[in-house]
Amino acid sequence: MTTAVELDRYRMPLPGPGTPVIPEDRVVALHAHLNTHYSAAKWPLAPLIDNPATSLRVIEWSKCPVSLREEMRLVTWTLLNGELRPTFVKERRSRRSRLGPDATWQAVQEWFRMAGWLGERGIRSLAECDAAVLHDYGVKVRDSGVSRSRVVKLLGFVTRMWAFDQLSARPTGIERPPWDETGIDDYLPSEKGGGGENSREPLATQTMGPLLIWAMRTVDDFADDILAAWEEARRLAEAARTTAATTAGRAALHAYLVPIIEDGAPVPASWNRGELCFARSYVGGLTGASERQVDTAIKRYGLTKAAGMRPGACPLDRPVTGRIAGVPWRTAIDFSEAASLMRNLGTASFIVCAYLTGMRPEEVLGMRSGCCPDPQPDEDGNVGRHLIRSVHYKTVTDGEGNYLAGGTEREVPWVAITPVVNAIRVLERMVPAGHLLFDHDAHDALYGLRPSTRGALRAQGMRQRIEDFATWANTEAEAQGLPAEVIPPDPHGNIGTARFRRSLAWHIARRPGGLVALAIQYGHIRTALNTDVSGGYGTRSRGGIHDVLALETALATAETAADLHEQFETGGGISGPSARRALVEAATSRRFEGREIKTDFARKYAAAQRYLARDGAVLYDNPNALLLCLYKQDRALCQRDGVGAEAPTLDRCVPGCGNTVRTDEHAARLRERAEHIDKQAAHTPQPIGDRLRANADKLRSFADEHDETRFTRQETPA
Ligand code: SF4
Repeated sequence: MTTAVELDRYRMPLPGPGTPVIPEDRVVALHAHLNTHYSAAKWPLAPLIDNPATSLRVIEWSKCPVSLREEMRLVTWTLLNGELRPTFVKERRSRRSRLGPDATWQAVQEWFRMAGWLGERGIRSLAECDAAVLHDYGVKVRDSGVSRSRVVKLLGFVTRMWAFDQLSARPTGIERPPWDETGIDDYLPSEKGGGGENSREPLATQTMGPLLIWAMRTVDDFADDILAAWEEARRLAEAARTTAATTAGRAALHAYLVPIIEDGAPVPASWNRGELCFARSYVGGLTGASERQVDTAIKRYGLTKAAGMRPGACPLDRPVTGRIAGVPWRTAIDFSEAASLMRNLGTASFIVCAYLTGMRPEEVLGMRSGCCPDPQPDEDGNVGRHLIRSVHYKTVTDGEGNYLAGGTEREVPWVAITPVVNAIRVLERMVPAGHLLFDHDAHDALYGLRPSTRGALRAQGMRQRIEDFATWANTEAEAQGLPAEVIPPDPHGNIGTARFRRSLAWHIARRPGGLVALAIQYGHIRTALNTDVSGGYGTRSRGGIHDVLALETALATAETAADLHEQFETGGGISGPSARRALVEAATSRRFEGREIKTDFARKYAAAQRYLARDGAVLYDNPNALLLCLYKQDRALCQRDGVGAEAPTLDRCVPGCGNTVRTDEHAARLRERAEHIDKQAAHTPQPIGDRLRANADKLRSFADEHDETRFTRQETPA
């Protein structure tokens, strides 16, 4: 029951034309100057936003049908200034009393859409929105072709309109939506899989592998060259722009140009708006001539036409140190490519950080210079891991469930493995000390795309940068003769920014040992994730990569069990000390129920944690060791340190472990691997050749042991 006292507290006063749109106590200092008043035609939501990677949304009243505009304005103001009653929040669990700025903007856009639909039906006041009208609207949203989770969200926004209307000083009287009263099931489209982070497909291995290789190569091998080239290009451009005319400059200019003209040599050229032009800034900066002197020379020697006919390079005088397979990746970096290389360097750093930490895109974009200091030795001289202290924004609320504009520093820092630390160090060289690592001004102004604005690059813009990076990398792969390193398109569409998190979890869960990244060992990342500070991935730690990783691991182990069952039922043989137990588990263990949960990720994660916590019943694939592991803690030889881990350390698998299971397929692949090693040994001098041969013999002995002890469905009583 809602009490009168509670009503009084939550009921809002009537705003006047000059009333601020955002209440003073919620205004963020950074954007305080953008706060406007009730009668304004546009309401920027920037005064609520402290997250540098969030778009600065604006509510534009011209987009709301005139007939409903004033009612919508009042209820929107109430939404921005008011707070839902605790009874409302409690009855609908997990709902917040106030939305964050982005969700607020989305809610108001949905209200505008609804206003347009009402207008088409001749409805000119929310007072006419009775249960029947709202039912029709619910059906219209259900049948609009959007996902179930999207429908839940959109209808939730309408429910909020009703709830906030009740708190308004002049309620319109819109009725309670029927889906809030009797349940939403009748308004949901048939199940096709919901939206949300975890329904985004992981990136295909074939795409992620070369993408990561190029990103790491750009950060680790090319960064010094690119940063030096960029500095030199800027120096030349600045000199060309500011140098005053001198006789010496004029003489140097002509001394540079005359041999080119007389010999018919290539003319320094660059692209400008789709046309090849004489490289004016480059030549001006190089020779010390003034802009006017260069322009005079362009006319005198017909350089614009000559550049179009005989375009030549503009090499920067900086040594190239980066190498691909031992060969310099460029003879020189060109003046005209310095800016785009800087852009690609920033993008490569983003890819490395997003993929190899599991951070959300906005958390990566919100990192600041200095966020990942070098760890100091403790009193015993031990040096810990690099940790990233960063702010996170998702689902950050205060004690009363209200959105927190500035996010909050993550209680648990992110673990940074070496490639991530390298990327952060590169970014720290790209921005001023203390600034955001993806500072918009530093990353975009350098490319000359847009005027300076505040904050970080947006995830939306980063998506395009990633596509551009892949295109550039593919051009490089072709030019460098590396066809195997071309990044093929992902079968599920654009790479985007939000798929990295799930891709990391997917690849760790399914590729222990690191087939994807080649240079990266996922075992290393998994180990890094299993430190005390970040919480084991089997723990209930929220908000990190652990939830997603647990989910992917549960899915992978469930698939492994199903595969084993199928192989056995179709006549395959199995062996190993845990073979019979594994068969029983594969045939009888309950399904992973998290697979069926489409939208409630907290439940899905909890189901994954429960599924993985069944000691002795979870079947892990270990493609590196060519076996299956029915993990039981007290038998696990990879857990010698005695610390009870909830999962095996697959990259430290020990032969002879009691948890081992092998199939015919494993035996065949053990022999294939042995043969391959033997071939290597034939070309390798002793003693390494002998060691390789011994290794091959050992693999063959595992395969022989399987053959001798295997049993099949036919040999097993039903
Ligand atoms: S040592 Fe045993 S428990 Fe560890 S991964 Fe190998 S089979 Fe599994």
